[in-house]
Amino acid sequence: MTQFKNAETQAIRLQYERTENKEHSVPLYLTSSYVFDDAEDMRSQFAEEKEGHVYSRYANPNVEELIGKLAALEGAESGWATATGMAAVFSFFGAILKSGDHVVSSRSVFGSTHKLFTEILPKWGIETTYVDFDNYEGFENAILPNTKILYVETPSNPALDIIDLEKLGEIAEANNLIFAVDNCFATPYLQQPLKFGAHVSIHSATKYIDGQGRTLGGAILASHEIIEKVKAFARHSGPAISPFNAWTLSKSLETLHVRMDRHCDNALVISKRLEAHNAVDSVKYPFLPSHPHYEIAKKQMKSGGGIVTFQLKSGLEGGRKFLNALKLFSLTANLGDVRSIATHPASTTHSKLIPEQRADVGISDGLVRLSIGLEHVDDIWEDLETALDASHANLSVSNEYLVNT
Ligand SMILES: *Cc1c(COP(=O)(O)O)cnc(C)c1O
Repeated sequence: MTQFKNAETQAIRLQYERTENKEHSVPLYLTSSYVFDDAEDMRSQFAEEKEGHVYSRYANPNVEELIGKLAALEGAESGWATATGMAAVFSFFGAILKSGDHVVSSRSVFGSTHKLFTEILPKWGIETTYVDFDNYEGFENAILPNTKILYVETPSNPALDIIDLEKLGEIAEANNLIFAVDNCFATPYLQQPLKFGAHVSIHSATKYIDGQGRTLGGAILASHEIIEKVKAFARHSGPAISPFNAWTLSKSLETLHVRMDRHCDNALVISKRLEAHNAVDSVKYPFLPSHPHYEIAKKQMKSGGGIVTFQLKSGLEGGRKFLNALKLFSLTANLGDVRSIATHPASTTHSKLIPEQRADVGISDGLVRLSIGLEHVDDIWEDLETALDASHANLSVSNEYLVNT
């Protein structure tokens, strides 16, 4: 494949080699296996002496094209694609960790990653120590002789905490750890963790990489050495992505930069308007100067991303009223879609936690998470404004701030 200087061009022009039909757009290789020329061809491919596809659990042209583009965008030597983001996270752990190993992770991680750390990995004697995202000394102090992986999510879901990748890269280097970053919220267009000392970038491609709410997918981007280990684990444990989904995701990457620019533009406008609204207590967006880690975000991200969170003054009850009053926003579990999405973690994804546990991961009762879509920004705002007004109408509890409005 020809290499181009800029990531945007790579995402469009890196294509699996054309067949004799000379398709302009790469065809879909929807096949479970591949034929061999003869017995010797078959023997040598099985022995991995000769490159070939063999079977789609191992390799497929559409999957290879997706990996090639993602590796180019992340500045990684190699990669591996999986059926979901969680399959990518688990395949990475499965490839690197053995019984008795230890992981140090930031506390604010995706819900299912938290389940892996607390319920699945301990079944094999693998323990995890959580550290608050901004306690850099804490990360160092948590490292044990058997620690293998340093794991973080930045920006985190849903708290939008920002972790200094360079600082953690130095800690990983000094302690000989593999430093892995869940880069789902930023996408490789906005942030390339490997440039800041990370060894592994992990994606849920389900979110912005698809960007249109159609398919699940995941990927791990890293050095050849790490990916060889992932490959050895994943080829036989079976988290393979469907060729159809890989084809869809590879097409989606062609427009990633254009979509992300608009997601970011819209999200910045919305976050500023939210900050000025009197039903809103506070707003969190990585590229708002009021974000506690604005400087770090500016250093390691090209732009702030498409996710905005804010606190309603009217708490849990106000959160429900707000969601019910939305007309344009979808109430759905996905994010990173062209369609704007709103969620209220305290009454949904995190409702099983007690308020103190929610507070530990940065979720208060009035927290709303918005995934800002590609609709016209004024239509997005109009919907939000109507719902914000509804959030504090007829509240059963008295709200002092209403007196001032
Ligand atoms: C959604 C998500 C995942 C999991 O991805 P799936 O494709 O749903 O398996 C992992 N990390 C983060 C930050 C996510 O938002």
